[in-house]
Amino acid sequence: MTLTTIHYDTLVTLCQQISDVVVALDHRGCIRFLNLAAEAALSLDSANVTGQLPANIPEMAPLLPFIERARAGYPAIRERVALADESIVWVQVIQALHTPPAEERPRITNLMGEIVHEMKRPLSSAKSLIDMIEASGTLSERQETFVQRARLRLASMLNQFHLLEDMAWIDTNGHLQTGPVNVEDVIRRALTHLEGFAQQQGVTITLDVQAPPCSLKGDAFRLESVFGNLIHNAIKYSPDGGQVVITSSADDSRVAFGVTDQGIGIPQEHIPHLFEPFYRVRNADTAQIEGSGLGLSIVKTIVEKHGGEVFVESNLGEGSTFGFWLPCE
Ligand code: ADP
Repeated sequence: MTLTTIHYDTLVTLCQQISDVVVALDHRGCIRFLNLAAEAALSLDSANVTGQLPANIPEMAPLLPFIERARAGYPAIRERVALADESIVWVQVIQALHTPPAEERPRITNLMGEIVHEMKRPLSSAKSLIDMIEASGTLSERQETFVQRARLRLASMLNQFHLLEDMAWIDTNGHLQTGPVNVEDVIRRALTHLEGFAQQQGVTITLDVQAPPCSLKGDAFRLESVFGNLIHNAIKYSPDGGQVVITSSADDSRVAFGVTDQGIGIPQEHIPHLFEPFYRVRNADTAQIEGSGLGLSIVKTIVEKHGGEVFVESNLGEGSTFGFWLPCE
């Protein structure tokens, strides 16, 4: 599987979850897919229109000017459009979502970067607005519930953007911005984004990290992603009331960090594959748990770029420890 394919699948997953109408076209200008919002707004079934030219589909008439602009060279367009029933929707047109020959691949990565960038702005504004609602006075219990739900949905979206950004960085063979790192600070930053999720899941997180016996050098931003992914998983695969503990240990030349949960655990036969892109354990325990299968592959890439090594131990039904070693400077 090429990284470009990974990006394509990730984009489809992402596009399915946003409320904008998204129309993806292939390099010939034919429809590659419509997201769920597009299917609902246009009363179309993506499977029935895939491979067709938008101009041949009457329901898509209001979108044609934007599609033409996208075809004329704009990599991605986001506009408000009035549909035939006079409803107004945000529409995005994304073109060239085919698996391209190798020489075109950087374009896909750039395109993805642009989309992520564009979508982070409204998301951040929405987050600030929610904070303002909370700060504007006492809320009723019901209002508080809605605010919390909105906050969690936004956090979940932002989590997916981070995955996408990390994937883009990996695909462009991104470099580490290394410097001395205070890992405890890095973990605390990762935790600030996850507190709401832990609370919602009824999971308690304890930090039991010792000052390392040597100095550590690394990319604090990428290491935050590593901890973010591991802690997010530990919460996600834990039962209500579960405990997650973040620990550290050291030997002569390296320091280990571990995230231990009391969750569902993992059948042994899956363990060798967990860090492969898109690998997910699929059984009755995981059926209701959402995920992309990308987090651990990102963790492994970042840790290995630091000269480190990942590890996992797990007992089915009892819990798991995911962690990694970093070399002393
Ligand atoms: P996902 O988005 O599916 O969680 P990851 O790449 O982060 O993707 O993890 C890959 C798979 O490893 C998961 O689908 C899950 O089956 C398993 N896994 C990861 N972390 C845990 C954990 N803490 N407890 C149980 N299973 C886990």
